[in-house]
Amino acid sequence: MSHDIQALDRAHYLHPFSDFKALGEEGCRVIVGAEGVYIIDDQGNRILDGMAGLWCVNLGYGREELVDAATRQMHELPYYNSFFKTTHLPAVKLAETLCRLAPAHINRVFFTGSGSEANDTVLRMVRRYWALKGRPDKQVVIARENAYHGSTVAGMSLGGMAPMHAQGGPLVPGICHIRQPYWFDESSGQNPEAFGRDCAAALEEKILALGEDKVAAFIAEPVQGAGGAIIPPDSYWPAVKAVLDKYDILLVVDEVICGFGRLGEWFGSVHYGLEPDLMPIAKGLSSGYLPIGGVLVGDRVAETLIEEGGEFFHGFTYSGHPTCAAVALKNLELMEAEGVVERVRDDLGPYLAQRWAELAEHPLVGEARSLGLIGALELIDPATGERFDKSLGVGNLCRDICFASGLVMRSVGDTMIISPPLVIQHGEIDELVTKARAALDETARRLADTTTS
Ligand code: PMP
Repeated sequence: MSHDIQALDRAHYLHPFSDFKALGEEGCRVIVGAEGVYIIDDQGNRILDGMAGLWCVNLGYGREELVDAATRQMHELPYYNSFFKTTHLPAVKLAETLCRLAPAHINRVFFTGSGSEANDTVLRMVRRYWALKGRPDKQVVIARENAYHGSTVAGMSLGGMAPMHAQGGPLVPGICHIRQPYWFDESSGQNPEAFGRDCAAALEEKILALGEDKVAAFIAEPVQGAGGAIIPPDSYWPAVKAVLDKYDILLVVDEVICGFGRLGEWFGSVHYGLEPDLMPIAKGLSSGYLPIGGVLVGDRVAETLIEEGGEFFHGFTYSGHPTCAAVALKNLELMEAEGVVERVRDDLGPYLAQRWAELAEHPLVGEARSLGLIGALELIDPATGERFDKSLGVGNLCRDICFASGLVMRSVGDTMIISPPLVIQHGEIDELVTKARAALDETARRLADTTTS
């Protein structure tokens, strides 16, 4: 069966973020099922999903309650839009629940179909906000290098991924990028707290260089996800907050990964004590069972849009999709009933931190870091203590070894990252760490073989 599916895949399916030619030559692994924290391939292998799909299957696989919620809603009202003065219960209840879970100053939601659409919405909304305030020149959004905010044209322009920028330009104008707080790769050994403050100072320098009257917003992920699970030094966010407090600039915190418990709070912003004006969300909102995203809108922006706005010419066919909303609502209900977020904060996060830190002793590992249920390993050449030559593709090698031995761990360059389902058990964390260590051993062995042969 695998062979037939691979042939059809090669013939017709252009995969996201893939080298089409190389993928066609290598063929894909076929995933046929999933259960709890495991995915199952067509050879019957059970693979521990250390990435929760794409940072999204927070409640794990096989939750019947989510299936039932979708089925019920499909029977009742599978689809209707909320354009033209209509609404429906799933979207309204989901909006209410989200506003209850969000920080107190957030009381409105705009729904989208994905995280990328959420960030497109953000860009249009902040510019609209300032235009309504009579300050249409406040257009520029400051973002960060190596950030990920999506794959639509605005999403990738806001993001700071150089390879994405190099394809399909020109980018959306009025977006600029400052340095990221990536201590391991960019600090040259500076004390982490001083480094964090310097990165925040880059924001102030950029604001001053552009002129406060030109800057609409600053956007950032609490912890950079796709960039490499980059946890900023403790000094970073307080210093950024202090900068933003000095100037009249909106704060957008991209919660697409960090929202819904990943860092042990409902939102990454809560973990870092931030009060964002806008929070794009997606992924864990529905545990990935159906596509849905949105923007949580703080009172300052919402009230202006409502009181002074007139029509906002923006929205999607699937904004507030009833079936997606019903599943998201059930997902949030289950998370609350099962105390998932508190468990990440008080139990699973600390346990992962303790077990993950053990990997720092491995000769290939230059740093092992984690926060809540997100973690990273920085791979280094034990002979030099420096990064490997990029052309060796050590991260991808380690990722492929992991996959073949029953663990999904993703590589970003030579950074290995994990973001497991939030329902993972201690024993499964043990299994994850054991498999990760074995994969590091095997990676080291293969590298030794290549250098000696
Ligand atoms: N923002 C962040 C922080 C993300 O990690 C992602 C997806 N990885 C997105 C936005 C885009 O979300 P989507 O893929 O649903 O469009």
